[in-house]
Amino acid sequence: MPGPVPGIPPSMPGGRPKTWMAEICPAMTSKGITPMSYDLIVIGTGPGGYVAAIRAAQLGLKTAVVEKRKAHGGTCLNVGCIPSKALLHASHMFEDAKHFADLGIGVSAPTLDLQKMQSFKQEGVDGNTKGVEFLLKKNKIDAFHGIARIAAVGQVEVTSEDGSNQLLETKNILIATGSDVTRLPGIEIDEKVVVSSTGALELESVPKHLVVIGAGVIGLELGSVWRRLGAEVTVVEYLDRILPGMDAEVAKNFQRILSKQGFAFKLGAKVTGIEKTGNGATLTYEPAAGGAAETIEADVVLVAVGRVPYTQGLGLDHLGVQLDNRGRVQTDEHFATNVTGIYAIGDVIAGPMLAHKAEDEGVAVAEIIAGKAGHVNYDVIPSVVYTFPEVASVGKTEEELKAAGIAYNVGKFPFTANGRAKVNRTTDGFVKILADAATDKVLGVHIIGPEAGNLIHEAAIAMEFGASSEDMARTCHAHPTLAEAVKEAALAVEKRAIHM
Ligand code: NAD
Repeated sequence: MPGPVPGIPPSMPGGRPKTWMAEICPAMTSKGITPMSYDLIVIGTGPGGYVAAIRAAQLGLKTAVVEKRKAHGGTCLNVGCIPSKALLHASHMFEDAKHFADLGIGVSAPTLDLQKMQSFKQEGVDGNTKGVEFLLKKNKIDAFHGIARIAAVGQVEVTSEDGSNQLLETKNILIATGSDVTRLPGIEIDEKVVVSSTGALELESVPKHLVVIGAGVIGLELGSVWRRLGAEVTVVEYLDRILPGMDAEVAKNFQRILSKQGFAFKLGAKVTGIEKTGNGATLTYEPAAGGAAETIEADVVLVAVGRVPYTQGLGLDHLGVQLDNRGRVQTDEHFATNVTGIYAIGDVIAGPMLAHKAEDEGVAVAEIIAGKAGHVNYDVIPSVVYTFPEVASVGKTEEELKAAGIAYNVGKFPFTANGRAKVNRTTDGFVKILADAATDKVLGVHIIGPEAGNLIHEAAIAMEFGASSEDMARTCHAHPTLAEAVKEAALAVEKRAIHM
């Protein structure tokens, strides 16, 4: 990694004088010290940022990244998608092992070594973050560790942990700084008793009672982990449903499945406060529609009420970079902000806060900056809840089609009628296909079931190619596979499913 450039003074409160570069840089140049200069500097090496950097390097752009964490990979690899999937996998195996006897496999009851499970998780995280470091090096991308601030158009200042500063010059800047946990007013997250997703991945013992605030993706995934490991889990949700934004029928069925697994739900409940007690917390909530307050005792409270774009310290104010009414960096269809040479992608801009959406935007913006035609099809972005069974969806929900006044046909097929699911005894859930009533074009696919997160990609590819439900139904599917349920749901659009 290039070292600090001598002669660059540390940050001054309120920013450097505008003349700083003009005064200092020529002097530095005359001493043979020139600031590092790039075609593109990417701020943030989450899935959006590092992918953008790699694509830019592939296209011949001299590229650098700046990352404030020690390891690359952002929230997703360090404290999000990857560690949560490690714990979801391990806890699922733990729960599954209790049913081995049903398969004729004799093992004694599984025991839990949580510390070992946490190291298993960390090894997975380290393997992935090291992989990103390797890819950056392989693509000859300079990586700077420190906090980036956009000093001016074409200039990024990096403040390292030791307080030293470097000024980098660049033709283009990409903001890929991601998002941060949404906090509830008056509720302090100590990451021990009151935790965010980060703390919920690090618990040192299984809580007796975990109360989750928010029935979104994080609440249900991490709630699943701790329930499988032995916690009683209560989810308190402001709305009268779980998984807002998902197809309502899917959400309702999924809630039933989770309740069967032991989740308790308090819907239409607004959390008004948390008071820490000796070794836990008392949570107070009241009906969202108004009414008397109630309390619940918890050992650990997980606050999972969404995420907010992270723009802190970037200096966007003084550059005049426009934000929208939700604090997201405003961009046009080319990911350009209102300031020439500054682009943004991922959680920090509008759209679903999903790693793969950020990755696709990263590729597209790199191609645009390199003078090519990058694009993202926002109509076909899959989303997956990695519980068991999984919930996966792509395209429009029934509610969205109704709101848009689009007439549609529905084809549904339950996993209870799928041979492979039956033999595996994983029959909870169904596949649901929504197709345009006039053209039969597939507009949305929603799956609850085993492997839903993999199965959804058949639908995504079909939709990317503008397939009709008939196209999906005519495609030969291997037997016996879970994917046959997708084909049968496509047949069901025209009421001609075979196994139902
Ligand atoms: P979310 O937006 O998915 O869900 C938050 C939930 O909290 C909502 O249901 C909301 O109604 C509820 N809520 C808000 N304020 C409340 C209050 N005061 N009391 C009770 N309930 C309240 O947010 P999340 O689950 O925190 O996830 C954050 C982001 O990360 C999301 O955009 C999500 O898509 C993304 N994420 C995705 C995955 C995945 O794709 N598997 C996994 C984790 C996170």
